Amino acid sequence: MPGVVHGAVLVGVDATVVSVEVDLLRRLPSVAIVGLPSASVREAAERVRSAILSSGMEFPRFRILISLAPADLRKQGTGFDLPMAVAILVAAGRVPAERAARWMLAGELSLGGEVRPVRGALSIACAARDGGFGGVIVPRPCVEEAALVEGVDVRGVRTLAEAVAFLCGEGELEGASRGAVSRATDALDLRDVRGQEEARFALEVAAAGGHNLLMEGPPGCGKTMLAARLPGILPPLSQSEAVECTRVHSAAGLRSGLGGVVSTRPFRAPHHSVSAAAMVGAADLRPGEASLAHHGVLFLDEFPEFRRDVREALRAPLEDRVVVLARAGGRVVFPANFALVAAANPCPCGYWGHPTRPCLCSPSQRQRYRASLSGPIVDRVDMRVELRPVEPARLFEGPGSEASEGSHAVRERVERCRLVQSARNGPGRTNASLGSDEVLQLADPRECALRELVRHVEKRGTSARGARRLLRVSRTIADLGGAERVETEHIRAAISLRFDSDEEVVP
Ligand SMILES: [Zn+2]
Repeated sequence: MPGVVHGAVLVGVDATVVSVEVDLLRRLPSVAIVGLPSASVREAAERVRSAILSSGMEFPRFRILISLAPADLRKQGTGFDLPMAVAILVAAGRVPAERAARWMLAGELSLGGEVRPVRGALSIACAARDGGFGGVIVPRPCVEEAALVEGVDVRGVRTLAEAVAFLCGEGELEGASRGAVSRATDALDLRDVRGQEEARFALEVAAAGGHNLLMEGPPGCGKTMLAARLPGILPPLSQSEAVECTRVHSAAGLRSGLGGVVSTRPFRAPHHSVSAAAMVGAADLRPGEASLAHHGVLFLDEFPEFRRDVREALRAPLEDRVVVLARAGGRVVFPANFALVAAANPCPCGYWGHPTRPCLCSPSQRQRYRASLSGPIVDRVDMRVELRPVEPARLFEGPGSEASEGSHAVRERVERCRLVQSARNGPGRTNASLGSDEVLQLADPRECALRELVRHVEKRGTSARGARRLLRVSRTIADLGGAERVETEHIRAAISLRFDSDEEVVP
């Protein structure tokens, strides 16, 4: 009788159920795998054989035919080792077929029979639940992650022998201790930042309204320090956001946090030499930096040094909040809803306009550098603030001084402001996400405030897109101040957060 066991293959961040069917044929002993296996799945035959023998069980002396269905879906990864081994043992009559069919299995096998972690355990558990399985057996290190999925029995397994004993009803497997995602509190604190009041305010506005931010200033003025503190002033991840983040990080093969569960807002800071594939995701369908920053912050330091194609590749995720990758047989969608913080020096050497240090760049070098600070991405930046070197006297101010408010107090204001936005814009919708057809109505500026905005637009030749962006930022500043309507002062504050808004370009 053929043995049938179920596993799952990861396509992007989602998993699809795959049935593993094993037939034993009375011919010369060998193993054949059919159904679009990739090289790593074909190699499983040797691992499975060794693992079964090392676990003290007999390896059937037949021709073993392993068929993976649906046949038109490419099977990648090492997660099929465990379902294949169990399916062989079912076909050999060693494991009861009905019990094995109730569980979905995932795990890589070592030659000694240990079960090793796989990518995407959380998504595999989702597939098990949606596929109507009674439960899912995953490698022990993945059990906390998989247990984030509610409505399915998740068990962790250390060895093939343990899995076999459980499926034969001769042993138990541990589940995870379910509970809310623990909140890490070790985020970096704004208290450590000296001075830079305007940039701090811009960071708070960015956190409150979901706006993108560009910071310009010489090296060492605190751009990276500030950006790294943005996750700490954003509201904590909700349970469902934590699940989404964990899916992405798990599909990328990253194991962050306790048991691989992402519990704090991600902060991704790729180097400027990063490729477009690493930034938005590649043909092998691993998520890129833009998706790893989902629900968190994507920080691009020395933004003009990023390759042009990399900068262009970010345009779609900035607009649609997702990355779409084309592949044979369809497309894969990765989530990519991140806050963008870009940083740039005033020139390639970094010291143009510095009060004490000379700039070593030629005028043409400076011009080229400035030129790369325009284009589709910078056009989508809501705020653009200039940072100056901190006055030496302020460097030695102790923590907790007047100007250094801590992240906790800022986060409380941000959370209140998000509640106001949800009530007005719809659940979870920030001011930055307001469409061009609704921003005027929802921002609700006073007559005089609107006149101020129009005056600015006429004077600076701001595009319609730029004007709407100013209105969105004004709305957030008004919300932070608890104002019902956008007043003239809010418009002026928003204008001051775009120090060169005369460079607006209509695409
Ligand atoms: Zn320079």
